[in-house]
Amino acid sequence: MEASKEIVRAIVPETTPALEVASSFDELGLAAPILAAVKEMGYVIPTPIQQQAIPLVLAGRDLMAQAQTGTGKTAAFVLPLLQKMVPHANASASPARHPVRALVLTPTRELAIQVHESVVGYNKHLALRSTVVFGGVDMKAQLADLRGGVEILVATPGRLLDHANSRGVLLSQVQFLVLDEADRMLDMGFLPDLKRILDFLPTKRQTLLFSATFDDNIVGLARSFLQNPLKVEVAKRNTSADNVEQLVHKVKEENKLDALVQVVNSRDIAQVLVFTRTKVCADKVGHRLQKRGIKAAIIHGDKAQVERLAALEGFKQGKVQYLVATDIAARGLDIVELPCVVNYELPYAPEDYVHRIGRTGRAGASGLAVSLCAPDEERLLAGIERFIKRDLKATPLPETAPPPVRAIATSIMPATVSSETKGPFSQRFGRTRAEPVCALLLPPANQVEPTPTVATPA
Ligand code: AMP
Repeated sequence: MEASKEIVRAIVPETTPALEVASSFDELGLAAPILAAVKEMGYVIPTPIQQQAIPLVLAGRDLMAQAQTGTGKTAAFVLPLLQKMVPHANASASPARHPVRALVLTPTRELAIQVHESVVGYNKHLALRSTVVFGGVDMKAQLADLRGGVEILVATPGRLLDHANSRGVLLSQVQFLVLDEADRMLDMGFLPDLKRILDFLPTKRQTLLFSATFDDNIVGLARSFLQNPLKVEVAKRNTSADNVEQLVHKVKEENKLDALVQVVNSRDIAQVLVFTRTKVCADKVGHRLQKRGIKAAIIHGDKAQVERLAALEGFKQGKVQYLVATDIAARGLDIVELPCVVNYELPYAPEDYVHRIGRTGRAGASGLAVSLCAPDEERLLAGIERFIKRDLKATPLPETAPPPVRAIATSIMPATVSSETKGPFSQRFGRTRAEPVCALLLPPANQVEPTPTVATPA
């Protein structure tokens, strides 16, 4: 953290009223077509990262933004970049009129797809074009899109380099570069690719780096990629999501599958994301659930892209109850109504625990993260507790029978609820999307306000 402060040389002027008072999107200086799209998404109030980052991006600053998953960080960079590109919006058919101006790099294909979906949503009333490219699928269709011209390109590093090397895409007019989930890009060994991509980009550009965690490697990356950056953060370093209730059940390895089903059934959980450390274990858990007649899908790096997308789509549509995933495959998944994450196996890297539990409690809804800890995982648990600076007390497994609260609550509550009855984020940020009742019946989470730290002066 100290090291990261070193490079933050710029001082935020005293007069940055938007940072303090932007309590609505209207105050952020965004054009009407962007505001209309935001409204259609059901957003009412900008989240803290949006309140902080949007004015700074509009002011042209490079940013190092530390934001946990589910904080609204995608809109925090997409909205102001769209705003900056408004003057370039045009309906010309000529590819030359649509050079790549904004490049967003993400570590995984799934995240790339999700970020691009957000871009499409926020951009729907503007004449700016966008596309997404990632590996594992044929390059030809991507090439056709790129040749047609796009102002906003979302990409994973490897596939982008393939296109850039074969001159399928020109990056010489990129004005804005976003490194999303930069910590994960480094974990996945993308640094050499990132450096090569840099060679294709103009040196004069605005660069935004988003990361859930900041360590010296990220600071090193920022040093070589960013100029005079400001740092914004909405959560303390390496803390885990505050609106997620975290439980640990001590379970022997051979009893974990039963325990998993018991946790889900006893709480009547509509959908659960189950994490394993390895692809082999993900397959094993997924197949054993399927054998029990449970609707389960598996997502990991060895699955073909179409299978991964089908699994994800089935889960998003609610056709699949259990999605069993490895860390990398699940990275960046945004399933808004996800009430529960289960760590079937504890991760080796404590950072992965933070990423995993960030999959639930998204957009401020309360969530539940259950860790099934076998005796030989105690050491991993202790490492996680040190990392998140919190004790995770073990509790007994819940009773198998659904608790009576469910029966009572379903009889008095509608299947979906209005924004007034939702959790604290929804009250504050006015999300109007329907949420399943089950998410609301989980025991209340530890509600601690995120700590918005306005852009750090030197
Ligand atoms: P992200 O952190 O970008 O993955 O966003 C997490 C979720 O929050 C996404 O489903 C967004 O659609 C949603 N979201 C982003 N900004 C807002 C906002 N201001 N109000 C309500 N929901 C939001």
